[in-house]
Amino acid sequence: MSTLEIKDLHVSIDTEQGSKEILKGVTLTINTNETHAIMGPNGSGKSTLASTIAGHPRYNVTSGSITLDGEDVLEMSVDERAKAGLFLAMQYPVEVPGVTMTNFLRTAKTAIDGEAPKLRTWTKDVKEAMGKLKIDADFAQRNVNEGFSGGEKKRVEILQLELFKPKFAVLDETDSGLDVDALKIVSEGVNRAQEENQMGTLLITHYTRILRYIKPDFVHVFVDGKIAEQGGPELADRLEEEGYDRYLNVNA
Ligand code: ADP
Ligand code: MG
Ligand code: MG
Repeated sequence: MSTLEIKDLHVSIDTEQGSKEILKGVTLTINTNETHAIMGPNGSGKSTLASTIAGHPRYNVTSGSITLDGEDVLEMSVDERAKAGLFLAMQYPVEVPGVTMTNFLRTAKTAIDGEAPKLRTWTKDVKEAMGKLKIDADFAQRNVNEGFSGGEKKRVEILQLELFKPKFAVLDETDSGLDVDALKIVSEGVNRAQEENQMGTLLITHYTRILRYIKPDFVHVFVDGKIAEQGGPELADRLEEEGYDRYLNVNA
């Protein structure tokens, strides 16, 4: 078992008006084989948490820690984080002109594992994984994210999960812009990665819809840069009925 531990994390960004604190003391422990949903209103800092775990340079950690099995994640470069077993799917995946999906996936897999995958098994693995996610075969020769629809980008994120086999995945708004069929396919992919690889998942979402397909073990409600409440799956059901008003009213 592996553990990703976030302790009293404070994060600021530089703005024209000076430094602004976004995360105000986040503490969260995720073990492999657990799914944690982070839910909360827009602007509460969910993506900031994801970007900070990913090592985005814009976000300054002013205090607190993130460790993976005791190793200091904040000291790691973005590449080292991936090597250590962290997978970060960004809310807006970037386009990489001139690089085909096949080359991108193989290069990334090689960097993560520290050795190139054997070509024959790799080609088979990619084909199989693409098939499960209902990704068209000629996708492999297209440039990374170039002209991909929102749904296609999400599928490719999950394709990476299947191929890279990370210990932990941080999925930020993976449900946004997906129709029900795509949402099911993507959710099945996440569930498969969890069952087959005991992946731990931090599932960040504004809406409860995806939680019908990916069952969280724990739900954390994020308000104003902090966890305002924690519970089990029943908390997601309550949020579906009541929304976030009660948390926002408390803050008003
Ligand atoms: P969420 O994902 O919950 O909607 P975010 O983490 O995106 O929340 O944003 C939290 C707060 O931080 C918001 O007030 C947002 O305006 C601010 N913020 C986040 N990232 C930036 C940024 N790069 N530049 C300016 N403000 C930012
Ligand atoms: Mg589980
Ligand atoms: Mg966000």
